[in-house]
Amino acid sequence: MSSLRVSIDSDVCIGAGQCVLTAPGVFDQDEDGFGLVRPGLGDGGGDPLVREAARACPVQAVTVEEG
Ligand code: SF4
Repeated sequence: MSSLRVSIDSDVCIGAGQCVLTAPGVFDQDEDGFGLVRPGLGDGGGDPLVREAARACPVQAVTVEEG
């Protein structure tokens, strides 16, 4: 079974919040509204919505890599 690596490029993120709206189990927003991956969920936690969240981000700040 392959694992995933989910990350957010904080230099690119504009705080649109789409990742959090799409996959709230994996993403959260900091106090400034920028997206972050919830602690311990850098592998996506098996949530199929992480790929949807990557697509939903308007600036492609969410990266989902295999392995
Ligand atoms: S959807 Fe993209 S721009 Fe918006 S908070 Fe998430 S990572 Fe940042």
